[in-house]
Amino acid sequence: MDLFELASFIEYKARELGIKVIYIKPEYTSQSCPSCGERNKVKDRNYQCGCGYHAHRDRVGALNIAKTI
Ligand SMILES: [Zn+2]
Repeated sequence: MDLFELASFIEYKARELGIKVIYIKPEYTSQSCPSCGERNKVKDRNYQCGCGYHAHRDRVGALNIAKTI
């Protein structure tokens, strides 16, 4: 399954359930600190920022995506 097919499938299943699908730019969603906005390179699954914020990098990505909606 390629990316277009996957997106089409997700849209189809979401439409069945009445869920709106929104596309966002993924750049830096896992690198930007949700607390202070600084970009940090992530070496492993743990995100650490100089401001003291730390979390799993997937949580960081999800929080930054949620901010764009
Ligand atoms: Zn920070």
